[in-house]
Amino acid sequence: MAELTRLSLNTATVRERWDLPACIEGCARHGIDWIGPWRDGLAAYGVERAARHIRDAGLKVSGLCRGGWWTAGTLAQAIEDNRRAIDEAAAIGAACLVIVNGGLPDGSRDLAAARARCLQGLAAVLPQARAAGVPLALEPLHPMTCADRSVLSTTAQALDWCETLGEGVGVALDVYHVWWDPEVLTQISRARGRILGFHVCDWLRETRDLVTDRGMMGDGVVDIAGLRAAVDAAGYDGPIEVEIFSSRDWWARDPDEVLSVMKRRFERCV
Ligand code: ZN
Repeated sequence: MAELTRLSLNTATVRERWDLPACIEGCARHGIDWIGPWRDGLAAYGVERAARHIRDAGLKVSGLCRGGWWTAGTLAQAIEDNRRAIDEAAAIGAACLVIVNGGLPDGSRDLAAARARCLQGLAAVLPQARAAGVPLALEPLHPMTCADRSVLSTTAQALDWCETLGEGVGVALDVYHVWWDPEVLTQISRARGRILGFHVCDWLRETRDLVTDRGMMGDGVVDIAGLRAAVDAAGYDGPIEVEIFSSRDWWARDPDEVLSVMKRRFERCV
């Protein structure tokens, strides 16, 4: 089982009830060493204030969610926004910037062009990311999100993109998005040296909504410990983010209860 010292709270898990300062205090109170904030929470609190608070609370930042989204608006706008995201990630000392690449542009059926545009955007900001010491963590998303969220769908595809782009790019593997893939274990071993983040939750057998119906570890069908062992065997020993979007269950609960359950399940299932 994974050491509790690797546990990171992705703030989306409690986002309906806690703002960023409350998340920072909550982690400190529950003895959680890592935090994975979102940019909207960071903007609301102020980047400098957040950076100071996180530091003063003794926390480390596993990753900033998120950059990418290359296919919404113009590419120039996306590049500008990603440049800001890299600066924010550097300011809070994030171990990586998580990249969700975006789906098809409105009205488009040209999947190849959308993918090319993502690579173009990534290549454009990569020198800045390298200089800032903020690696870009490409997160492949479940293929059902290909139209509206991510034209990057599999671990293999993400690693191909890493090879095209070179240094400063890796992958963030989220069990929710990769567990179904018959190639997942082969691709995780191929990812040695490229794994920048590992996200956990569970896939509920009767998922009602792909985006906001994630389960707590242990409540679904994913062999989380098996995937975690594979990621570790590929050389990853960094933080493990618990990221649970759950409109029907966990978001409605008292966040202190969510963190307590999360810690217990992490020890048992991850
Ligand atoms: Zn994730």
